Amino acid sequence: MRVLLVEDEPELAAALSAALRNYDLVVDHLSTISDAEEALRLPRGYDALLLDRSLPDGDGLTLVKLARETGQGGVPVIMLTARSELHDRIEGLDEGADDYIAKPFAVEELMARLRAVLRRPGTLDAKPLRMGELRFDLLNREARVGESLIEMPRRELLVLEALMRRAGRTVERSSLEEAVYGLGDDIQSNALDAHVSRLRRRLEAAAAGVEIHTIRGIGYLIRQTRA
Ligand code: CA
Repeated sequence: MRVLLVEDEPELAAALSAALRNYDLVVDHLSTISDAEEALRLPRGYDALLLDRSLPDGDGLTLVKLARETGQGGVPVIMLTARSELHDRIEGLDEGADDYIAKPFAVEELMARLRAVLRRPGTLDAKPLRMGELRFDLLNREARVGESLIEMPRRELLVLEALMRRAGRTVERSSLEEAVYGLGDDIQSNALDAHVSRLRRRLEAAAAGVEIHTIRGIGYLIRQTRA
């Protein structure tokens, strides 16, 4: 799951980015409208947008319209703002934001609201993804076999999520890297293969009934283990 955070206050942005990573998401953090416009035009797509209103080059509300026009019509949007006047809240919701949080706020409150907007029908499929014995819960960010949680580091969870969201189809290396790394993250060559091989061992040890198949030179796909 990938979130775009547009916020120009460095301390708040750092705290939010940390909380979002801690929730096992990928975060693209940008500080201006112009950078965010560019990111929204990329084909990668976002699962949620967190937008500050007072940005150095304008009102973050203008990004909502762009997001709705660039093929991310249903993406949940939460506005973060120092403006807490009723008028500003109504304006934000009128422009198509899903929620509005006034600064200062507790990071935990924002995370709770994020989960709430993601849970709304038509945003993210709240039903867990299933294959073999494996159940992947997008909202709770966990993979289970039966009742047992398969614990894994964030990046392996993100690889598994990307494969499960396109189960049975080949996911190209570049798509997997995009699913795992945020803008500005350092991507080391072969890191992806290392995540995949650890994930394979973990799934096998958990008797998940799925296997990650290598499509040489292209990418990977997840499929049910053949009996
Ligand atoms: Ca600001």
